[in-house]
Amino acid sequence: MQARAFLLAVAFTLASAPFAASARTETTAPSARFCETQDSKECQAAATPQQVLERFKQGNERFASGHGTHRNYAQQVRATAKGQYPLASIVSCIDSRAPAEILFDQGIGDLFNARVAGNIVNEDILGSLEFASKVAGSKLIIVLGHTSCGAVKGACDNVQMGNLTGLLAKIMPAVAAIPNTGQDRSSKNYAFVETVAEINVKQNVQLIRERSPILKELEDKGEIKIIGAMYDVATGQVSWYD
Ligand SMILES: [Zn+2]
Repeated sequence: MQARAFLLAVAFTLASAPFAASARTETTAPSARFCETQDSKECQAAATPQQVLERFKQGNERFASGHGTHRNYAQQVRATAKGQYPLASIVSCIDSRAPAEILFDQGIGDLFNARVAGNIVNEDILGSLEFASKVAGSKLIIVLGHTSCGAVKGACDNVQMGNLTGLLAKIMPAVAAIPNTGQDRSSKNYAFVETVAEINVKQNVQLIRERSPILKELEDKGEIKIIGAMYDVATGQVSWYD
């Protein structure tokens, strides 16, 4: 009888162990499990903008601490072949040190990414964001600047060169927003450059609201969130303007 009781106890323990482990994980870190394994239409539809923001915050923390997720890209290609349900859209710079998927520890099919020098917003970017949120269901828009941005430095130095002149002109309002107190306003002034970069992000967040009634309405309804952030190319960390 004792042996039988022991076997029954073992069987019960084995049967209940997965549930116990699952419950424990969900209790301690519910947002960490949110849509983490594979995105789906249901997952995207159920997600709130705040949940998506938490997912991206946690993804950057994993990346910056050297604990990024190992991904099977071949498997992700197969899983996303018939459709995409990205949770967020990111406007970021072309800078080679700021690849959005990597620094947020995301995979294929997880985010829309519009990259342009100086992470500025124009009508083409707005059109892309409107598609991403209104048509494709993305819940979060991140305007992501970064430290030591060459485009921001170019705007500070009033660089004139080909088509770059027109692009840098879109960063100039951020330069002009800083009162002239006789400080060095060139790219040699590191603090000035980083302040311009921050203002540029915040101004472009506002531009999205002002120039896209579609996105403004989605945000007002709480269906999406628009937020600015800054990536530090020296630490790998993202700081958020919210
Ligand atoms: Zn840049």
